[in-house]
Formats: sequence, C-alpha cells, structure tokens
Amino acid sequence: MKLNVAEQLKLAGKAKHAELEAELGPFFYGGRTVAFASPVRMHVDYVYDGDCFQVSGRLETELASECALCGKAFAEPFGFSFSERFKKDTSEEDDAYEYRGEELDLGRMAEELIFLNLPLSSVCAEDCKGLCPVCGCNLNTAQCSCAGDGLINPFLTLGALRNVDKEV
Ligand SMILES: [Zn+2]
Ligand SMILES: [Zn+2]
Repeated sequence: MKLNVAEQLKLAGKAKHAELEAELGPFFYGGRTVAFASPVRMHVDYVYDGDCFQVSGRLETELASECALCGKAFAEPFGFSFSERFKKDTSEEDDAYEYRGEELDLGRMAEELIFLNLPLSSVCAEDCKGLCPVCGCNLNTAQCSCAGDGLINPFLTLGALRNVDKEV
C-alpha cells in the first residue's frame, strides 16, 4: 500500500486523492487472530505541508469473524476514518509515521489502525440467540426443551462476557 509522493515533495500544499486496495493476510495480535474476508480498501487524501504529510481518509474491509454468542464464522463489515501524519525523520516522542525517499508506505499504518479499531466482540446478527446455556445447542438453528424450565443460570452469561474481555 505505497504512494509515490515525488510530485508532492516538490509542490507543497497540493492535495491528492488515492484509492488503494490490498489483500492482507491474517495477523496475530494481542492474543487474537485478525483475519480478513475481503481485501482492505483505503480512500486517502494526502498533502505535503513542507514538513510532513497529512494523510486522512477511510479504510473499509470485512473481517473473518467468529460470533461471540453462537460461534458461527461470518464476514463482518468493518471500517473507520483516520487522520495521520508521515514525517521524514521521526523522533521517539513524535507520533508521526516515518517515510523514506519519495514513498509513503501505508501498510504499517493500516495494520496498526485496524488493531486499534477492532470490535471488542463480534456478533453474527443483532438478534443472534446464541447457544443454550444448559445444553449448548445453537438456538438460531435448533430448538431445545431447556428454555423455561428455570435452569438457566444468569452467571453463565456473565462468565461468557468475562472471557471476551480477557481476549482483548
Ligand atoms: Zn451468532
Ligand atoms: Zn438447551
């Protein structure tokens, strides 16, 4: 996901737009695997102000997610807006990304921003019924006779939430 910025470096203040697309492989991050169901697409506007590049835009893709309630694998729409800076020589306290030569490599920025924006937990549908806390069957596709017999333990649901927290 690279932008050639030779032209901008000679002409500060001239804004440009680019559409980028890349197939990203799965990442392992913070104890969880991040996999993609669609290519990562970025719309970026970038401009050189004489000192650094201001890069802003939007990233869109689909995550290969697993439902936190029922365990089903599904493609989860995922996107966010961003605004970042790229500098030639970055010091440690600088929060800008570094670029070399006449090229901005947006790959590392995209990865970091994806991690920062990941949903805490993914649910396949707003009305996902999850698994039966008693017998474990998937209540979206199966019907069991457990419901209504008073055996459902509310602490099971609480425990499931705690497990989600730990994985973040
Ligand atoms: Zn589900
Ligand atoms: Zn059941």
